[in-house]
Amino acid sequence: MKNLVLLGLPGCGKTTLGRAAAKKLGMGFLDLDALVETRAGKTITKIFEEGGEAAFRLKETEAVAIAAAQNGMVISTGGGVVERPENIELLRRSGILIFIDRPAQQIAQHMRTADRPMMEGKRQKLYELEARRRPLYSMAAHYILESGKNRRETEKKLCARCRHILSPAEYCVIGDPIGHSLSPEIHMPVLGKYLQAASYEKQLVTREQLPEFMRMARKKLAGFNATMPHKEALLPLLDEIDADARALGSVNTVVNRQGKLYGYSTDGAGFFAALKEKDIFPQGKQLTILGAGGAAAAVAVKAAALDAKVTVLARDMGKAQALAGRIQRAVPGALPQAARFEEIKKYAAKTDILINATPLGMAGTGTSFQDFDFLDALPRSAVVCDLIYKPRPTELLKAAFALGHPIMDGLPMLVYQALLADELYLGTQLDMSGEYHALEASLLIG
Ligand code: NAP
Repeated sequence: MKNLVLLGLPGCGKTTLGRAAAKKLGMGFLDLDALVETRAGKTITKIFEEGGEAAFRLKETEAVAIAAAQNGMVISTGGGVVERPENIELLRRSGILIFIDRPAQQIAQHMRTADRPMMEGKRQKLYELEARRRPLYSMAAHYILESGKNRRETEKKLCARCRHILSPAEYCVIGDPIGHSLSPEIHMPVLGKYLQAASYEKQLVTREQLPEFMRMARKKLAGFNATMPHKEALLPLLDEIDADARALGSVNTVVNRQGKLYGYSTDGAGFFAALKEKDIFPQGKQLTILGAGGAAAAVAVKAAALDAKVTVLARDMGKAQALAGRIQRAVPGALPQAARFEEIKKYAAKTDILINATPLGMAGTGTSFQDFDFLDALPRSAVVCDLIYKPRPTELLKAAFALGHPIMDGLPMLVYQALLADELYLGTQLDMSGEYHALEASLLIG
């Protein structure tokens, strides 16, 4: 069983909270500062007096190594444990880290300084520590727990968070077909890091089986993702639907909170989160989207909501117009355009971001663009994106790259929409870029 490790400023309540949580959860408790003192045979104040902070930090790292070798413990750490990256690396190997975020101002009001050598007479020091360490705590922690109005409230929140981490959590992706889905490979490495006992399976669910699946999901699952053909059919079966999913009329993520099912759509947001990583923003830009299917709709509706100007090109003019109509209904004030696919050259000339949301160029389909002449019409600064992630890069992206255009393939969208879903499952913010790069290396999509 993993350890639960509490981080935070001196005086944030880690020791008291940790001891109480351990008791409630039936886990062991370990206080790192106490371990340092026991091993050294002297108080922390004495260690500071004799060898300064450097001597203390060395002893602290030795204690961290001992604590990290335990399992099933609630561990409260000293405020400065984050100063040495090796401490965090050790603690993360066997534990899930929770930052008790209690503002310095609140701590200062209640603080006794006698037993905290670094604080003596220096309340100002606490504010300096907060400025330096808050980013370190936030980066190191899996979860950030904002302290409550009082200790009792914080303890309640901490115990609820710990129970969430420790309880078995079953997730799955449903669809028909589902065999090809990469979702378990994308979700499991993340969920496994943040939860004690998570599982994520592929589940074949036909249209007919969806109502029965929903009854089971309500009772048993912590959440699930949905792909074809369920994204639209799920809407009337949910208790709550978020704004993006409602605007798009499609759900790809469902979270079970105490038996209530909440639906979200992270597809469009995933695409733009991936673009943001490249410092590309849609606001005020002209987006030209090829295709008018599900993926095109997710990107187009979110783009309009983010104040981009959207043009949809489809081989079936009726479908392009239907998507433009949907954008208008979802985002009042948006002025999307619809045009025929053959007019691509004309629209390319006015494009800032071109997005292929058709299967043209996808491995196994045998389809491809007739030519890439339309790239010559694109302004040189225009970004070219392909939602296809097999192959990486597509012929379209190779041609665009050769002409000097910034490009983005479909893998970032695939991973970012999953990471956004994981944030909803876990109730915490992820290091999107870090997780993406770790997954990109492991997914080995060529
Ligand atoms: P979809 O709902 O079937 O839509 C496909 C769109 O492409 C339709 O507008 C379709 O037009 C058009 N199209 C198909 N063949 C065409 C051709 N030969 N010439 C011109 N247009 C053509 O599929 P989707 O779910 O939106 O997926 C579209 C693409 O995005 C696929 O390559 C898929 O792999 C990719 N995708 C990527 C992600 C990601 O996370 N990266 C997520 C979803 C999808 P008609 O309606 O006239 O057939």
